[in-house]
Amino acid sequence: MKQYKQNELKKLCAEQSPGELLDSLCGSTIAKEKIAVESVYIDEGVSDAVGILANDYFGNSTRYAVVMDHNTRKTIGEKVLRQFPRAMDVELAPWSKWKQVTPHDHFVRLVTMLSKQCDVIVSVGSGTINDICKYASFNANKPYISFATAASVNGYSSTIAALIMNGLKSTLPAHAPKMILADTHVLANSPSIMSRSGYADLLSKSVSTADWKLAEIVRDTPFSESPSFIVNNAIDACTESVEGIVENDPEALKLLMQSLVLSGFAMTIAGSSAPASGGEHLISHYWDMQAYSEGKHPALHGLQVALGSLITSRLYELVRNTDPKEFRHSYKSINHKQQVHGDLWPSIRSEASKQMLNKVQTTERIIKIKNNWEPMWEEISPYLDDFATVKKRLEDANVPTDFKHYNLNWSDVHKSIKYSHDIRNRYSILHLASNLGLMDDLSNDVMKIFK
Ligand SMILES: [Zn+2]
Repeated sequence: MKQYKQNELKKLCAEQSPGELLDSLCGSTIAKEKIAVESVYIDEGVSDAVGILANDYFGNSTRYAVVMDHNTRKTIGEKVLRQFPRAMDVELAPWSKWKQVTPHDHFVRLVTMLSKQCDVIVSVGSGTINDICKYASFNANKPYISFATAASVNGYSSTIAALIMNGLKSTLPAHAPKMILADTHVLANSPSIMSRSGYADLLSKSVSTADWKLAEIVRDTPFSESPSFIVNNAIDACTESVEGIVENDPEALKLLMQSLVLSGFAMTIAGSSAPASGGEHLISHYWDMQAYSEGKHPALHGLQVALGSLITSRLYELVRNTDPKEFRHSYKSINHKQQVHGDLWPSIRSEASKQMLNKVQTTERIIKIKNNWEPMWEEISPYLDDFATVKKRLEDANVPTDFKHYNLNWSDVHKSIKYSHDIRNRYSILHLASNLGLMDDLSNDVMKIFK
């Protein structure tokens, strides 16, 4: 089994292309973290070989369940299913008032039950189906294979699943697939907006890693350089190929998919989603919760994250430019929060309560940050891109950068800036602006980017 220490990993990441790096890292152990994904096949024609590759690994007598929805059945699911003659055919149908399959616990329960009746789950889909299969197979202690139908998210290879559990959008510990398969022909036939969304999800690293570093400084939580080594070159290569990504060129999508898988590995070795999911993801998750609670479908994950990244990169600049003399107490009571979050409050209460600070604790935090103000920014800035850079990269990828494209209104967005930190007790620029009593003013200033 391959084992890499941090300095070996750094060298490897500098020398190898994203494709070579994937081959090197599959099944390896980095520091103490194991990459459980044994193999990744991203190429044209992979969809013809799903059965052979799966049986080579799991054996001919394996009982599979192939999980898809109506859309992925039509595009490729039927073809995948035919390669498993004895497989359980599972087509998830939209539930309750929704028109598409949603990441709700309803589907997790269903697929967990089915997982118990087979040996291996084969997920045929993108973010939502993958996360349902990932978490359900983890619950049932069965391995799973992810056949990715779009280069739209970095969650295929990670060990966490983003799901709506009891109304709360949560990132839950789970396991990674044993095998990831993607046919570049299938990726190129998915809607271009999905690939652009995947690219935007990847780009959030320029703010999420800064949040992760910030958390280390303010709360002494662990931070590591290693996840950045893994994805930095891959993200740069995608940025160079952005025209190809926008045009759904198969070679560019191969690179994007490789980079998304590497981003999942980066989360695995961090032991959390922190390197790829900070305040920008909280904003996106908050919009998801809001949309689902109103019976609507949210916009694509990566697109929402793109808006979130714009918001938090601007917020970083505004906080950075604030004179520490302006830091103040801004106490928001539990009753106030309950009122703000409305119907979402029962799902949010627990995470929001964990991060409430009393007057003394707030003073201590403000003093700690004030005393460390300049050194703190020196430590964070290498991980942070400025707002103009983030915006340019998104515009180059033809990603809409105005909330009006996402069925959101001014007050939805403003509220998410001020209050989405309540949904997760993991430190980000949203938490910092709140702790320093700056959020009421700065959230208004951030909104000016949309005018
Ligand atoms: Zn994401």
